[in-house]
Amino acid sequence: MKQRLAILGSTGSIGVQTLDIVRETPSLFEVRVLTANRNWQRLAAQAREFDADTAVIADERYYGQLRDALAGTDVKVYAGEDAVAQVAAGGDTDVVVNALVGYAGLAPTVAALGAGKKLALANKESLVVGGEYVMRLAAEKRAPILPIDSEHSAIFQCLVGEQSPIRRLIITCSGGAFRDLPCEKLADVTVEQALRHPQWEMGAKITIDSSTLVNKGFEVIEAHWLFGTPVEKITVLLHPQSIVHSMVEFEDGAIKAQLGTPDMRMPISFALMYPRRATRPGERFDFMAHPQLTFAGVDRAKYPALEIACECLRRRGTAACTMNGANEVAVAAFLGRKCAWLDIVRAIEYALGRASFAAAPTLGDYAEANDEARRLAAEYLAL
Ligand code: NDP
Repeated sequence: MKQRLAILGSTGSIGVQTLDIVRETPSLFEVRVLTANRNWQRLAAQAREFDADTAVIADERYYGQLRDALAGTDVKVYAGEDAVAQVAAGGDTDVVVNALVGYAGLAPTVAALGAGKKLALANKESLVVGGEYVMRLAAEKRAPILPIDSEHSAIFQCLVGEQSPIRRLIITCSGGAFRDLPCEKLADVTVEQALRHPQWEMGAKITIDSSTLVNKGFEVIEAHWLFGTPVEKITVLLHPQSIVHSMVEFEDGAIKAQLGTPDMRMPISFALMYPRRATRPGERFDFMAHPQLTFAGVDRAKYPALEIACECLRRRGTAACTMNGANEVAVAAFLGRKCAWLDIVRAIEYALGRASFAAAPTLGDYAEANDEARRLAAEYLAL
């Protein structure tokens, strides 16, 4: 039987690659629901191509254009952020792919898990903001979460079939756009430079997060919640070639790694097809083309965001939600050329130093912490 998919954020980098998988194996999937924020043109084209049942545009201003573009089809058209969460919980899908970016992904994650859906999760911010709440809900509802993030997919693949406790998780890190740039040059880096990721083609926000290593900090938090591993047992290792996607070290000293050329369609297809694997076209991995795989420690003075994220994880409560909210505002400001690259982490520190803190947050507390963090970051950046 075909798996019926809801793809939230279908017009973005992960969403488009998820649809590539569907195109490769149409006998396995049926696309029921597609959503975008503003890109109604691409959303309408996708809904037509995949004969979707429902299309949702989160930004209500584009409802009319989407509806007109889908006139003459049977596609149901809705608008608004609440509608995205509603379709995530909707009755006639088996799997929800959450490929939204940022805090906006939390409510649909909660809605999907609350309805007991299988969740293929790219939106790491859901776990950064509300990991404790999200994992408790998933356990209560027995709703599986399959990671799409390549590092977490790698760890998940290494853990399949293992029953013994682990010694540590080793998350690899490409180092982002400024890996080889000396610290003193970071003050003047441009948006164009920051968007030039050495290994991966991704959406703008995660590419900037990779350049500051906020992304790697978020991945430590994500790994903690997904695998129940304490922060002290998570190591981040610089690996410029991005061939080893991450590793697990066991108590007997064995280390398992998952390797391959950087291509997000591999972890996406694994999340969709687990416990099976896809038969995907493509070249065999050429070991001779990669004669050297190198590893190094991360320069934590150059990239303070990594330690800030680990500290947020230790503090629990709303700390990481505050970090995420401030980061979203600062990244948008940097992309809009309203602040310098170094201001991103400074805005996070400013917000964390002043924000209120809820130790056992409800969903409402996360919303309040997010609003407060956004306000504080805007205040710091004089936006
Ligand atoms: P993109 O920016 O490319 O796409 C984001 C998608 O979400 C788009 O469809 C966008 O719509 C939609 N969207 C944006 N804001 C909102 C909102 N407020 N409400 C509803 N929908 C919204 O992001 P990526 O695909 O790069 O990343 C998605 C998630 O996956 C992120 O959490 C990222 O960290 C994670 N991830 C991404 C990887 C990658 O290779 N790209 C790798 C690993 C993880 P529109 O097109 O209309 O703007």
